[in-house]
Amino acid sequence: MKAKPTTHHRPTTALGPVSSSPAPVGAPGRVGGGAEPGATVLPHPQLQVQPYRANGSLVLSANHVHKTYHLGGQSIPVLSGVSLAVRQGQFTTIVGQSGSGKSTLLHLLGTLDRPDRGEICLHKQRIDNLPFRKRDLLRNREIGLIFQFYHLLPELTVLENTLVPFMIRYGVWQYWLRRRQHAEEARELLSRVGLGHRLNHRPNQLSGGERQRTAIARALVTQPKLLLADEPTGNLDAKTGAEVLDLLRQLSEQQQLTVVMVTHDEKIAEQSDQIIRLRDGKVVSATADAA
Ligand code: ADP
Ligand code: MG
Repeated sequence: MKAKPTTHHRPTTALGPVSSSPAPVGAPGRVGGGAEPGATVLPHPQLQVQPYRANGSLVLSANHVHKTYHLGGQSIPVLSGVSLAVRQGQFTTIVGQSGSGKSTLLHLLGTLDRPDRGEICLHKQRIDNLPFRKRDLLRNREIGLIFQFYHLLPELTVLENTLVPFMIRYGVWQYWLRRRQHAEEARELLSRVGLGHRLNHRPNQLSGGERQRTAIARALVTQPKLLLADEPTGNLDAKTGAEVLDLLRQLSEQQQLTVVMVTHDEKIAEQSDQIIRLRDGKVVSATADAA
């Protein structure tokens, strides 16, 4: 994937500063010598990557993240000190075998769950320790999420499903006032993902690829700069999966979208800018092309 010029950087989230803690160890400002002004952090041994988009701003980082599940009196350690860093416009894949903790990690990155220890930062601000309500707001405004099984609402049309993030953001009355403008935006986006002719279909009237395209449109309709995708092609046949992947790449390149995608498929991972390999709850390698 070709390097893209950096044109966008938001210094704060909509929520303002959320942490006074030091920048995370291993944040990519230090990777490959691409230090950012004011950065004082040492490189982390898990992040021995090639110089890559040294000018791209740091979007997302995890610093020594731990997660253990507790089930029926048993402890199930899943993540044991995971650190990673993602720069603006990068297409990153997290790859590992089934059960290696990929979804757990993605959920932590997307504030759907909290780590037991360690930090997650978005635009260098800590987000893992935000209260529930603020995490919900942050997700609604800053992060797009897509999943293997789409999670569309069956009773809503393609267009309505795409508008759900606005319905959540504004509530019934405020959404009603804004509905025309947002519907226009959603229609335009649905055309771009190839669903302009399916606006009034319900999910059970769509193919798998069309359902995932709807989920992609829903994830992007609020124009987040970060998209997190958990095995987005895992439920699709090879051809449809490749088409969905192409679409994600195009969107990433056209919109300066930063993408973090989880996959168990090495072939898919090979096509990304940065590959983070998970094994036994640890990052065993992080590589990036030098494009
Ligand atoms: P992957 O996405 O790489 O397949 P997951 O992150 O889904 O892996 O799961 C990692 C491990 O954590 C698995 O062994 C799984 O059984 C366990 N696990 C995941 N979620 C929970 C949970 N809510 N409670 C207990 N164990 C869980
Ligand atoms: Mg998974």
